[in-house]
Amino acid sequence: MTEELFRDDATLLECSARVLSADDRGVRLDRTVFYPQGGGQAGDAGVLRLADGRELRVVDTRKGHAPGEILHLPADPAAAAALQPGDAVVARVDAARRTAHMRFHTATHLLCALVPHPVDGCSITERYARLDFHMNEPLDKEALTQGIARLVAQAHPVRHRWISEQELDANPQLVRSMSVQPPRGQGRIRVLEIEGVDLQPCGGTHVANTADIGAVIVTKVEKKSAMTRRVVLGFAEAAAGRS
Ligand SMILES: [Zn+2]
Repeated sequence: MTEELFRDDATLLECSARVLSADDRGVRLDRTVFYPQGGGQAGDAGVLRLADGRELRVVDTRKGHAPGEILHLPADPAAAAALQPGDAVVARVDAARRTAHMRFHTATHLLCALVPHPVDGCSITERYARLDFHMNEPLDKEALTQGIARLVAQAHPVRHRWISEQELDANPQLVRSMSVQPPRGQGRIRVLEIEGVDLQPCGGTHVANTADIGAVIVTKVEKKSAMTRRVVLGFAEAAAGRS
């Protein structure tokens, strides 16, 4: 099992670790700051620095088949496969990519608070985030952009805590997502709270305050099907750079 340091501190970008095993599928560590793709959020990229100073580039992070297995996907599978169990590494995530994921991910929670309908799809990447809502009413792009800007400007604290599965079962309204149910069987569920705005189970990485989301805008609202409205978010600075 890998100790998941990113669950309790999303600001941690580097940690020392030991190799548990490595092959051409990926590198498994005893602890990591790398978030594996899940809950709609893309996996982290970065580097594993070896004791001799060499750096192995990690292009993505995925969950493996075994429960709790986290695979750091190497750019050079042969070099990764040469690692031995017990080898010391320093694992460091690509800060720009992770920060983009954290800003977008927190912004999707604000969007959930603004659009009171179930979510039936979610994708969070470095360049955009999109949420699919199960609804047939039209959505106003400008009003959503303004709503997000207002919640960002209000600087709401963002924090996570762990609740018991019984507590979650007693509060079924907490689960907003139809497509991603919180993981069961560990006895506790991680919930993400944006004070006064949103509370829902979530295992992803988030900024510590809505002010840290910065300028995020709705770039597109689409009717994907009779009962699906898709909202796409982008960074205002990227949109300005394109025009
Ligand atoms: Zn989240």
